[in-house]
Amino acid sequence: MSKRIQSIRGMHDVIPPASGVLRSLEQTLQAVLQQYGYQEIRLPVLEHTELFRRSLGTVTDIVEKEMYTFEDRNGDSLTLRPEGTASCVRAALQQGMLYGQPARLWYGGPFFRHERPQKGRYRQFHQCGAETFGLAGPDIDAELIIMCWHMWQRLAILPSTSLQINSLGTLQARQHYRAALVEYFRQHEQQLDGLEKQRLQANPMRILDSKNPELTEIISDAPGLTEYLDPESAEHFEGLQELLDAAGIDYDINPHLVRGLDYYSKTVFEWTVPEQGSQATICAGGRYDGLVEQLGGKPYPAAGFAVGLERIMVLLEGARTPGMEIDAYLVLVGEQAVPVGMQLASRLRDQLPSLSMVVNCGGGSIKTQMKRADKSNAKLAIILAEDEIRDDTVGIKFLREEREQESVPQENLVSYLNAYLGT
Ligand code: ATP
Ligand code: MG
Repeated sequence: MSKRIQSIRGMHDVIPPASGVLRSLEQTLQAVLQQYGYQEIRLPVLEHTELFRRSLGTVTDIVEKEMYTFEDRNGDSLTLRPEGTASCVRAALQQGMLYGQPARLWYGGPFFRHERPQKGRYRQFHQCGAETFGLAGPDIDAELIIMCWHMWQRLAILPSTSLQINSLGTLQARQHYRAALVEYFRQHEQQLDGLEKQRLQANPMRILDSKNPELTEIISDAPGLTEYLDPESAEHFEGLQELLDAAGIDYDINPHLVRGLDYYSKTVFEWTVPEQGSQATICAGGRYDGLVEQLGGKPYPAAGFAVGLERIMVLLEGARTPGMEIDAYLVLVGEQAVPVGMQLASRLRDQLPSLSMVVNCGGGSIKTQMKRADKSNAKLAIILAEDEIRDDTVGIKFLREEREQESVPQENLVSYLNAYLGT
């Protein structure tokens, strides 16, 4: 036998029943996005490397060490998308979607980062994100946060979550803060590792985002951004808090919350599930008013968030797995039953669009087929054998309850199933 080929480390197959959980998670998130009037945008998984270098900032985890970058056959440098915001802004600019009516968009799909794989951290993972353009006030920040709240509520995970918010102010306000931070971390320089020392020069706010447990205490005593905020950002931040209070959303202000990417300004927020340790963040977002300009457009306000689906999947483990639910298994005994059965199955699927039914393939005795029916998790076995074909009926066997087998005329089968399954 030749050697088996394995998947790439950190890139996983999602197989049943987990695939059913993932699908229903995506559907729930999309249903909420739809309720808020967000429209889907589908983006390519490959972009020019320059897009991410220019938008995320070169001194970021992603750009420094996590991107899947390669040269294509033309010698262009391409990168598998590590996140969605940069692509979304690129597309909105390129497609002329900005500068008119404000836009509310969402996207979903796989993203790629070369990280050390562990629970809740993979090299191919899934995000669902929302991005808004043309809205500068705290009202849209609040809407985004409240929409997340609705998502958690709909998924029944709200009690496990907690929300942290902060304001990064304007670029100028951050420069004053930066000076204070550098001074502070200089006093603790011996505790910083090589990378963090580099960051002290290049981008000291990044140290606040460090996952190094030895720095937790130093970071918590570091100066916070709040006192360096410019008046406009401070007012914006207060406005957001008022709206969240009015909506009854609980939050903590974390003056050290910075986010790992350069493009944020003013509001930033993170939803965490504290019990998940260093993979606690399930959703992160904020304003990025400077990004459109950074990518070549006229300045335009923007805000959004991204949800990490695998981290929510962890919370949904043991939840009902909708992918497993099958209504009926059609048992076809004898050669004659196959063409009749296939025709019957087509008619049922036409008339009962939400019916999920597996048709037996590969023949087998009635005993074998009933075993397959049972294993399929179907509620009913619909039996078509010689007698039934002769009488234009089917046998109905109840696989999940104690109940006598019934015989139903084929012409009544649609209404019978409708009544039984409540479709
Ligand atoms: P972390 O601090 O955990 O590395 P991040 O700040 O790099 O996260 P973002 O770029 O904000 O993450 O991405 C948004 C969300 O996507 C994260 O909150 C997380 O839920 C999810 N996410 C990010 N990277 C991964 C990954 N490698 N595997 C699985 N989910 C991820
Ligand atoms: Mg990261």
